[in-house]
Amino acid sequence: MTAIPGDGIGPEVMKAVQRILAAAGAEIDWEEAEAGAEVFKRGIATGAPQETLDSIARNGIVLKGPLETPVGYGEKSANVTLRKFFELYGNIRPVRELPGIKTPFSGRGIDMVIVRENVEDLYTGIEHMQTAGAAQCLKLITEPGSERILRLAAALTQAEGRKKLTCATKANIMKFTEGMMKRVFERIMPDYPDLEPSHMIIDNCAHQMVIAPEQFDVVVSTNMNGDIISDLAAGLVGGLGVAPSSNIGDHAAMFEAVHGSAPQIAGKDLANPTALLLSAIMMLRHIGDFAAAEKVEQALLVTLEEARNLTGDIAPKGTGVGTTAYTDQVIANLGRTSGFASRAYQPLTLPQWPEGVWHHPPQTREVTGVDVFIETGAEPPALAASLQTAVAGSGLTLKMIENRGVQVWPAHSGRPFLVDLFRCRFMLEAPRDNADAAIAQALAGIGAGHHWMHVEKLQRFDGRDGYTKAQGEN
Ligand code: NAD
Repeated sequence: MTAIPGDGIGPEVMKAVQRILAAAGAEIDWEEAEAGAEVFKRGIATGAPQETLDSIARNGIVLKGPLETPVGYGEKSANVTLRKFFELYGNIRPVRELPGIKTPFSGRGIDMVIVRENVEDLYTGIEHMQTAGAAQCLKLITEPGSERILRLAAALTQAEGRKKLTCATKANIMKFTEGMMKRVFERIMPDYPDLEPSHMIIDNCAHQMVIAPEQFDVVVSTNMNGDIISDLAAGLVGGLGVAPSSNIGDHAAMFEAVHGSAPQIAGKDLANPTALLLSAIMMLRHIGDFAAAEKVEQALLVTLEEARNLTGDIAPKGTGVGTTAYTDQVIANLGRTSGFASRAYQPLTLPQWPEGVWHHPPQTREVTGVDVFIETGAEPPALAASLQTAVAGSGLTLKMIENRGVQVWPAHSGRPFLVDLFRCRFMLEAPRDNADAAIAQALAGIGAGHHWMHVEKLQRFDGRDGYTKAQGEN
């Protein structure tokens, strides 16, 4: 397996975990690889040298310490590089109450897993300034991207002997993007008759997680929503310092603590290796070494339960010890059993996705018009008049103009605050085969007198509109 010790406290917690795994009899051949701050400083913009990428590609399993993104060395994070290069589409974050870690939620029996889509959504990083004062980020959610994360969540629910699978989205507002995940969820869940699926609006999910967290088993969500609720959930059971995670893909899996490199305490034998150890336990289960995983987990739980020789961040006041002494204590407890029940884990089997480009064209496709985003300081009536002249004779007519989602021409009662970015919707006067030519002609007319930014074709796929209406649009 590839071990990336990483930055700050990374090497210390990695060493602690490797010692515990070796003492538990897990037979692992570690191949150490580099990533993070030092790599950036050598001018490697991805933060991960080729040898590290080769090692991951060869081994397929990675245990990783935290990686710093040093300020001033490019803006890409090495973590994101690794996730994207190996298409680690599933982020799994177990959230379970641990013995001895007191929180306002202790005793509630919190035991859930958050599954977050890890590569799509707003995190594709496709951003454009539309005008000098209007920024846009593309929220891209695909059908196969949704299906594979949902099937991963369903397989995980089964593998952990759980029942309830909650899909949390904002489908009520973003009907196409967030709605994609909800629709795919509804389509595929009949394949899992043993599970209890339900859908929850993401904001209510955040609320429910605080008022009744024990109701959740597995929660699956889109990338940004999952990012937020997984941190929220971690906070319920003791915070990021004890939160493990895995990043799963078809060809590789990477296991890491959620916390960062804690530079303030690096090299001082103060770091708590629990989060990386819990991540390593997930890794052992992932490769099917359930016996070693159970042995290490029980030793950790006993150590936490007895609250003897814990690191300063979690120890009862005045009793904290260093990383090494805590590690020795966990090793000393190997073979003991805690009062905490273990799950009957099963191997996680994921569907294999076909190689090649996913392409499912619709049976029918019709272009009905075009949205053109235009920068102007003109008032909507004046803009409308000039656009009507600009597209005259092209076969397209101006239907409406909106500003930040609200129709402003034809005007409604009330007056929204206007910024210099208007979406102008033009519809084809009659269906035609050469719609693109009409759009090009209209665009040439518009461009002669206006700054246009992006252009979105309006299409109907299989008889359904592939675009939403503006607030107030008929
Ligand atoms: P951090 O998680 O490093 O630290 C937050 C606080 O928690 C600090 O007080 C720290 O001392 C404490 N802490 C964290 N882990 C601990 C542990 N194992 N034992 C004891 N105390 C611990 O977050 P930050 O300060 O925001 O980030 C520091 C650096 O880490 C940044 O460069 C950031 O980019 C990077 N980072 C990396 C990852 C990753 O690699 N997955 C995640 C988060 C942050």
